Amino acid sequence: MTTCDDIRPQLAAYVDDELDDMDRLIVDNHLAGCVDCAAIVQGYRAIHAAFLVDAGADGLWDAVHARIDALDTTTVLLTELRLMRDEMQGLRAEVADLRRELGRRPPSPPVRTSPFSFPDAPERDLKQYRLV
Ligand SMILES: [Zn+2]
Repeated sequence: MTTCDDIRPQLAAYVDDELDDMDRLIVDNHLAGCVDCAAIVQGYRAIHAAFLVDAGADGLWDAVHARIDALDTTTVLLTELRLMRDEMQGLRAEVADLRRELGRRPPSPPVRTSPFSFPDAPERDLKQYRLV
């Protein structure tokens, strides 16, 4: 008699059709009498269906490209910029910590009028790059 603990590590491979005939039969027999494991299999199948790209090998890139095109480019870029800004703030804090450990006083940060610093660019050109 197989238990749920025996079967569950094999359920993903079962859904992916990667089990040999004997293991598949064992899982089939267990699923026939176990609603909990059958529910897990249904969950895996739902995940498969959600990620299924209905395209042949030749059409795969077109399908991916269409999904990328459907994204709001501005939202994607702003999200990316915010992630980069957060990363920069984290790195700045790490540098400040390291300088403190070395017993040096960190230099005062440069005055910034925009998220980007272009020292040679005239001020009026910077406004169009301002972030939210
Ligand atoms: Zn079970």
